[in-house]
Amino acid sequence: MITSSRRRPGEDAEVIVVGAGPAGSTAATYLARAGLDVLLLEKSSFPREKVCGDGLTPRGVKQLIDLGIDTTEKAGWLHNRGLRVVGGGRTIELDWPELATFPPYGVVRPRQDFDEMLARTAQHAGARLLEQTTVQSAITDERTGRVIGVKAVTGPDKKPVSYRAPLVVACDGVSARLALSVGLDKREDRPMGVAVRRYYESPRTKDDYLESHLELWDRSNPADPKLLPGYGWIFGMGDGTVNVGLGILSTSKAYGKTDYRALLKSWLDGTPEEWGFRDANAIGKVGGAALPMGFNRTPHYRDGLLLVGDAGGMVNPFNGEGIAYAMESARIASECVVHALARAEGSSRERALGRYPVAIKQALGGYYRLGNVFSKLIGNPHIMKAATRYGLPMDGLMKLVLKLLAGLYDPKDGDALDKMVATAVRLAPSA
Ligand SMILES: Cc1cc2nc3c(=O)[nH]c(=O)nc-3n(C[C@H](O)[C@H](O)[C@H](O)COP(=O)(O)OP(=O)(O)OC[C@H]3O[C@@H](n4cnc5c(N)ncnc54)[C@H](O)[C@@H]3O)c2cc1C
Repeated sequence: MITSSRRRPGEDAEVIVVGAGPAGSTAATYLARAGLDVLLLEKSSFPREKVCGDGLTPRGVKQLIDLGIDTTEKAGWLHNRGLRVVGGGRTIELDWPELATFPPYGVVRPRQDFDEMLARTAQHAGARLLEQTTVQSAITDERTGRVIGVKAVTGPDKKPVSYRAPLVVACDGVSARLALSVGLDKREDRPMGVAVRRYYESPRTKDDYLESHLELWDRSNPADPKLLPGYGWIFGMGDGTVNVGLGILSTSKAYGKTDYRALLKSWLDGTPEEWGFRDANAIGKVGGAALPMGFNRTPHYRDGLLLVGDAGGMVNPFNGEGIAYAMESARIASECVVHALARAEGSSRERALGRYPVAIKQALGGYYRLGNVFSKLIGNPHIMKAATRYGLPMDGLMKLVLKLLAGLYDPKDGDALDKMVATAVRLAPSA
């Protein structure tokens, strides 16, 4: 552990990171590796469950590789080679593209294990992890309004504590308690999603593809199957179980008016018996949570507080993927913090911190703008139906769609499809 802190009297760290999910643990790792004294505060204790699909596209794997994690199968990772798309009576398999920027494989790993591995990586880098510590609000300087620490309760007896540092990084997920405590509400002009999932013991546990269902059918009355709202996934976990779930976008009429658990059951009851998606094979309960998309909380930096991952609404509005973007935004935020803390307090430091929202916009703003428009379009079932019926049979088009939906293209020097996506992203005004 690094002890040569430059922290000042009255301060508990040089930077406080709130939340040890993928965003927080990644940020804490990069910050600690840069020699900073990092306090990482987490309300739960590891190992802990997190409701998720547990799937990473190559975009997420790239973030793991950047962090120095061994993602080989030898190291216990279950690789997948692409996406299987089911819809409009068709099934197509699309391999992840061969690119310079991203590896050609995705992975699946239960968050119970994944998040602990990332948190231990942060500790190993020197970050001080305090579990069972729930942050309640930011402490602000009365005179300047600047965030100078956090109030929290810690331990089984929920002892009130406070921690101080010149900078605080909010990685507390979709609840975004810290951001809310300084008045940073979510933006209603950006899409949200809600998703539910459950684990089942299933013979489909070993699968080379992540499976995505563009249509969900209620087949309880086989003579009159009904199209349900939302999109589903079936991810084989390789350990005898499968993670099955569905999501609905806020742009859909059904959003907020649906019993999502009942919806999952209606869909799964109609899937083939031999897949095993029945109550008798279920492991644990149905879990659900919201997906904050397309930068739904801004500004990403203000007065000593940076918003990273779900806290900053970083979920990809095209496909609901959030781990990759939590880690990517964490990397960018850490770089800005390291540079900021290398400068004297005041306007020069603020300039370095102001680079974070700019850099995150440069990295994802145009893409998310397109994603926000896309989420509006597919909220309309007629458009979705036409896209499924006419789009899926077109091989070339689907390769392009995969690159766009999963953000898997080489921004420079890619093939013709990459150039099309990169141009669209460049021309779109930032979200
Ligand atoms: C059903 C479902 C399926 C999904 N499937 C996928 C998928 O397959 N692939 C994918 O990439 N993404 C998926 N996502 C999205 C993904 O889970 C999130 O985008 C991702 O977890 C965001 O990471 P994060 O670190 O920002 O937030 P989180 O993972 O939510 O981490 C936040 C951390 O902060 C802690 N915390 C919260 N509040 C406080 C507090 N007040 N004080 C201290 N600690 C606090 C939490 O305990 C947690 O450890 C899915 C989401 C849902 C709901």
